[in-house]
Amino acid sequence: MTTPLAGQMMDVPLTVPSLLAHAARHFGSTEIVSRRIEGDLHRYTYRDCEKRAKQLAQALIALGVEPGERVATLAWNGYRHLEAYYGTTGFGAVCHTINPRLFPDQIAYIINHADDAYVLFDTTFAPLVDVLAPQCPKVRGWIALADEAHLPVMQTPVLSYETLVTAQDGNYEWPPIDERQASYLCYTSGTTGNPKGALYSHRSTVLHAFGAALPDAMSLSARDCVLPVVPMFHVNAWGIPHSAPLTGAKLVFPGKDLDGKSLYELMESERVTYSAGVPTVWLGLLNYLREAKGRFSSLNRTVIGGSACPPAMLRTFEDDYGVQVIHAWGMTEMSPLGTLSKLTWEQSQRPLEEQRKLLEKQGHVLYGVDMKIVGEDGRELPWDGVAFGDLHVRGPWVIDRYFRKDDSPLVDGWFPTGDVATIDRDSFLHITDRSKDVIKSGGEWISSIDIENVAIAHPAVAEAACIACAHPKWTERPLLVVVKRPGFDVTRDELIAFYEGKVAKWWIPDDVAFVDELPHTATGKLQKLKLRDIFRDHVLPSALEEEKDCPLTPLARGNPVSR
Ligand code: AMP
Repeated sequence: MTTPLAGQMMDVPLTVPSLLAHAARHFGSTEIVSRRIEGDLHRYTYRDCEKRAKQLAQALIALGVEPGERVATLAWNGYRHLEAYYGTTGFGAVCHTINPRLFPDQIAYIINHADDAYVLFDTTFAPLVDVLAPQCPKVRGWIALADEAHLPVMQTPVLSYETLVTAQDGNYEWPPIDERQASYLCYTSGTTGNPKGALYSHRSTVLHAFGAALPDAMSLSARDCVLPVVPMFHVNAWGIPHSAPLTGAKLVFPGKDLDGKSLYELMESERVTYSAGVPTVWLGLLNYLREAKGRFSSLNRTVIGGSACPPAMLRTFEDDYGVQVIHAWGMTEMSPLGTLSKLTWEQSQRPLEEQRKLLEKQGHVLYGVDMKIVGEDGRELPWDGVAFGDLHVRGPWVIDRYFRKDDSPLVDGWFPTGDVATIDRDSFLHITDRSKDVIKSGGEWISSIDIENVAIAHPAVAEAACIACAHPKWTERPLLVVVKRPGFDVTRDELIAFYEGKVAKWWIPDDVAFVDELPHTATGKLQKLKLRDIFRDHVLPSALEEEKDCPLTPLARGNPVSR
């Protein structure tokens, strides 16, 4: 037997600081623009950014932070946050990005669970830090991302980021790092139970940055000016802080103001070509554009993900504003990218309406991720666009286990996502639900996301959620909960009639409830668990009828639909 022949190529590890080093050396004068908490617009270059990231690394080392220790951030999208990404991972520490929209108790849990050595925070979060500090005694210091003049008045003793950074000279070489070392720690939003930590490695972060930048993925390039609305505290802003330096794209950070007007003005003034965010943010931007009769003069693509992008939103972007929508699906446990809606050459030759139907789905996997859907018996289901199943994934940027948890979440080497999906003959993924949210009517599954997408297309509907409601005959039937668009009106019966011909008859909601607002999680997703709780005692008219017709069936009061 011959021994396998080793390749004779340089063994250069794939590390996070190499991304910024590349941008600083080869796109040194490309700009990074940030709207600051201080109120002004800050601009500098990749070259400046790397120097300051090195100064931060020196400062953290001087404070005693060791490789492998976690340094947390509680911050908006901005240049200092970017410096924190690289100034921590660059010397082997782990950057732990915290979502400030979580409940303070959950944040304290996360900080303690991660065992964070220091926490860097934007001054907006000073009141939050005062609540957290007494609950997190092991944190060695709280560092305000500000100069001395802008330090907030607080009960907690804090350090000034600018004082620490400017005390260092930046003459520092990134040390060698094993690519399998940890880079970032991101916690899931924990809608049920405590948040769980996904611990990425340098290798997984760099591979994900490569994959994300591909033309059939996020398609980033040096010709782009990118404004990530998706927060850097939510799954590394979908990898943009890594793919942008990898490609040399200009970066524009919006800071804390994510309303339609602020985003639009920044996009226009910086001539942004590319953006990314969750549907809720785009709802705000589109509403503003409609009212202000605005047009985009430079934006040509946007990635929408994190929740299902309603087809109506996709069409508005494309038809009314000429902006291409890339619908993306992923999750914290996947760094996050899994699939994106991009057509093959053959698909793009099909009739326009057929292309659109495909693009409304969550799309095709990118290299690095494999997926399958399985039935209740664990067996793989066909890719026919009809069979619903639990979605499992695997790949080099998918977690193997959760941080500080011994038991493996994997099933036969695959990660069960908790999403329910179909995959069609074109290999396009269509997410129909979270497994906890599917509606099982007479043993058949109804996709709540599809029901919501129809409602959203009605001009009087601002937001919609579809939940399961108990039913004596069918076990569960869909209830649609709707927030009306200000100044518009629609009745229950009109909305139900709106479904005629758009979905299978038995998918049409049995009832509609109108509310002023819907509950959301810290990452902007509908909180259906809470909604089911609110509508626990809701009695569907069809359930009452059923009781009238068949008095022996128990009335579905005290909604038992809990998962
Ligand atoms: P997170 O870990 O907070 O990013 O949440 C991941 C979850 O968000 C996924 O498992 C899906 O349930 C949901 N999600 C993300 N993107 C989409 C999408 N494009 N369509 C439907 N659901 C999505």
